[in-house]
Amino acid sequence: MGDTVTIIDIPVLLERIESLQSFVLTTHVHPDGDALGSEAALYHFLRREGKNVRVINADAVPANLAFLESNGLFETWNPAAHERELMQADAIICLDFNQPDRVRGMEPVMRASTAFRIVIDHHLHPKPFADIYLSRTEASSTAEIVYDILTAAEFPVDRATATALYVGIMTDTGSFRFERTTPRLHRIVAELMETGLDPMAIHRMVFDDYAIGRTMLLGRILAGIEQHCDGRASILVVTGEMLSETGTTVEDVENIVNYGLAIRDVELTALLMETAEGWKISFRSRGNVAVNDIAAEFGGGGHRLASGARVDGEELSVLKQRLIQRFCRALAR
Ligand code: 5GP
Ligand code: MN
Repeated sequence: MGDTVTIIDIPVLLERIESLQSFVLTTHVHPDGDALGSEAALYHFLRREGKNVRVINADAVPANLAFLESNGLFETWNPAAHERELMQADAIICLDFNQPDRVRGMEPVMRASTAFRIVIDHHLHPKPFADIYLSRTEASSTAEIVYDILTAAEFPVDRATATALYVGIMTDTGSFRFERTTPRLHRIVAELMETGLDPMAIHRMVFDDYAIGRTMLLGRILAGIEQHCDGRASILVVTGEMLSETGTTVEDVENIVNYGLAIRDVELTALLMETAEGWKISFRSRGNVAVNDIAAEFGGGGHRLASGARVDGEELSVLKQRLIQRFCRALAR
């Protein structure tokens, strides 16, 4: 584990994969569609190559993505059961993250392991903790990169694999509307659809299959929206009380941050969510301001227009004030 980031391309990755036998795939905490879809697709590929593969994640699969699961594919980190796997695997493949603390409790074992560490990711500014990085910040999603890997390896993408990749691309592009939704990406999606996957059913399972409490939660969050910086920034807050009173969990808050940007004149938004580990902040930008720099100042990171951070032990009012000031300063430039 050096102090440099060695960027490689697909042929080098495939050569390396060929030379190794046992793999652990992992992804970031609160895994989303791209994280799990990328893992599932790469899992199917590696299995077909005759490799031993385990997928071990710091957090469990959220209910709306459970359909990606097959035969206990996704395992949730349990040191007693998994420490040896991580220590003894030939390789650990880190999907959809590029900072070691994104796997939280798994980080010490991931670092201590003698396994060859491979990062496949599309976030900005990879941190040096792995041996090689297939890092493409211009990719819409990690799933798009995995698609390119599978295509280069001439893997015949079946419907299950195509569904996993489709979910990754769909969720990370906000259903094909964010930056990086290119003609090429639509061609990839067309090819995936040709396996017979069902876009309507997938969309419904991922985005439109909530318990009523989630809609009530949405109402409460939106009712409290604040606009600042001459109307150019907005703030949304989710407290633990709002979650418990509506019978929802942090998973139900996924994507609600986008409402903060769906307002005329608003260029920057943040959603502050109370969790057991302090405040989780989601940042979104319409395009002019890069929020990954702002997220980094709060100890996080991510993409230019979508980033996040976790802040522990700070009073909501203080944190909110800090954020508003930072937003107004960014917008004044
Ligand atoms: P979200 O707001 O949807 O949770 O995350 C948006 C983006 O920011 C994602 O690409 C995610 O990887 C990144 N991100 C979210 N939370 C964190 C965090 O705590 N640390 C870092 N480095 N990135 C984060
Ligand atoms: Mn992603």
